[in-house]
Amino acid sequence: MEKMMQAAVLDAPFKLEVRQVPVPKLGADEALIKVHCIGICGSDVHYYEHGRIGRYEVKQPIILGHELAGVVVKTGERVKNVRIGDRVAVEPGVTCGTCEYCKSGRYNLCPDVVFMATPPVDGAWAEYVTVRSDFLFPLPTEMSFEEGALLEPLSVGLHAVSRGRIRSHDRVLVLGLGPIGLLTLEAAKMLGAAQVYGTDVMDFRRKLAMEMGAQGVFDPSVPHSLDVGVAAVTGGEGFDLIIETSGNPGAIADTIRLAKRGGRVVLVGLPATDAVSVNISELIDAELDVYGVFRYANTYPSAIQILSRGKHDIRKIITHKFALSDIKKAVELARTQKETSVKVMIYPGEGLE
Ligand SMILES: [Zn+2]
Ligand SMILES: [Zn+2]
Repeated sequence: MEKMMQAAVLDAPFKLEVRQVPVPKLGADEALIKVHCIGICGSDVHYYEHGRIGRYEVKQPIILGHELAGVVVKTGERVKNVRIGDRVAVEPGVTCGTCEYCKSGRYNLCPDVVFMATPPVDGAWAEYVTVRSDFLFPLPTEMSFEEGALLEPLSVGLHAVSRGRIRSHDRVLVLGLGPIGLLTLEAAKMLGAAQVYGTDVMDFRRKLAMEMGAQGVFDPSVPHSLDVGVAAVTGGEGFDLIIETSGNPGAIADTIRLAKRGGRVVLVGLPATDAVSVNISELIDAELDVYGVFRYANTYPSAIQILSRGKHDIRKIITHKFALSDIKKAVELARTQKETSVKVMIYPGEGLE
């Protein structure tokens, strides 16, 4: 008889239901993971609310969720790198391994990537998930499952910071202090930046950034406060490295003005509309380097090493925890309570007998 599990299935926008579905079949290169905890990402909330992101559309019932850690409970016959009982973090995008991008190490650009919770691929708001084993990373005992799950959004920050060629004497500004912004701030510190600042319109998020070790924060909604603040902390020069995570068109335009001459700008946040107006003359005149960021590559091993030293507590961004049975409440909270929530974590709980 087919083994069953609890999973949260999105049938259509706002139609999210926890029900019994078959446990996924195990391939020879895969491991079956019992999910310990899994975060709610902005993209999950977006699919829940709108049923699509760009060209990816929910056309059939889908299980969302892609930020997870759990325990290996079964392995396919060709799996060698993990064993039953291992606590692992899951990198949720499985790539082909053979294309030009995969071979050159930029596998985040692989055209054949199969990424969890991106329609039609199921994610892991469920008791179990199967993952190709080369995308599993054993967690050292000093690392929690929560940190393992947060490696996914942290990876975006680490990739952004390394795309921006961070240097220890850089003054860094992170625009937007949601989960990705806060973890980008942390990533900048991890990779050695001495001075990291942040901006957000929400008081709660600015405070959290200060708790996480930002040197200072600015509220871009107060007229002139951003420019005056930036001028004060950078001696009127602007920031060496600006990382934009909000996707707000105004913030994207601001990056050009806030960067130092010869500085670098990294764009992470996706704007709601494709075209955004920016001052190109100013960009050219200041000889800025501008980088796009799409997901991440090769970040998990180094992130695990850094976190296991215990000097960076990324768990500060977790504001709420819910059982899988309360997923609807959890997603609604993440969707509507941005003033008080940052990362909402789901616990799928006990599983297969
Ligand atoms: Zn995510
Ligand atoms: Zn590839």
